[in-house]
Amino acid sequence: MPTDTSNARSPDSDIIGNLERVKARIADACHGAARDPGTVHLLAVSKTKPASMIREAVALGQRHFGENYLQDALPKIEAIGDAAIWHFIGTIQSNKTRPIAEHFDWVHTVSSLKVAKRLNEQRPDHKPPLKIFIQVNVDNDPDKSGFDPADLAEAVQAMTQFTRLELQGLMTLPTMRSSISEQRIPFQQLHHLQQSHCADQPELSMGMSGDLEAAILEGATWVRIGTDIFGKRDAL
Ligand SMILES: *Cc1c(COP(=O)(O)O)cnc(C)c1O
Repeated sequence: MPTDTSNARSPDSDIIGNLERVKARIADACHGAARDPGTVHLLAVSKTKPASMIREAVALGQRHFGENYLQDALPKIEAIGDAAIWHFIGTIQSNKTRPIAEHFDWVHTVSSLKVAKRLNEQRPDHKPPLKIFIQVNVDNDPDKSGFDPADLAEAVQAMTQFTRLELQGLMTLPTMRSSISEQRIPFQQLHHLQQSHCADQPELSMGMSGDLEAAILEGATWVRIGTDIFGKRDAL
């Protein structure tokens, strides 16, 4: 008889256990930071992973999913639809804004005024305003997208004028650092920038599988977790 491996559960596909472990880490980090765990939202990053895995997480009560690549994301959104809330967290080319404005609920990676203007124009009237984060390049890393902190005041001013966008706060994707104390530095900088430039938009999208504890210590309200929920990714 041929061997059927379809029921084999590698640790990488143990979504139920992985989700529990990630939630326990979030709860522990909140405890350590004296924060209410209800103030930290979990965005499950499902990029490159099949719709079947998203459905499994939806069945376990996970609502928010993050995607980076349009070609990969659109068929999954089509298949799963309103059972999930869709967040775009990838690099945005300005000629690809329309499907993002039409199919996503949130965008974490608004890193130019040109992109914001197009998303605002292209957001369909029958949908609520698109919830957005301004991505900030706190490291001033030439390889990363995001506003220079020096340009943030102007960016916030412009983006709060767009009626089809609803600014939530700031997002960052810092260069990986190994120790918690080093990881905290860019997150603390983002929090300070939020307090000084958009005190009325208090959300902070920061922290991934490797640095969620540091992000929560510094005030993250959205952590974006892929690998530790869905397993390692193959390159797309
Ligand atoms: C892929 C990705 C994540 C998730 O990263 P993991 O290390 O797999 O948890 C979070 N944020 C962004 C912007 C990403 O591109």
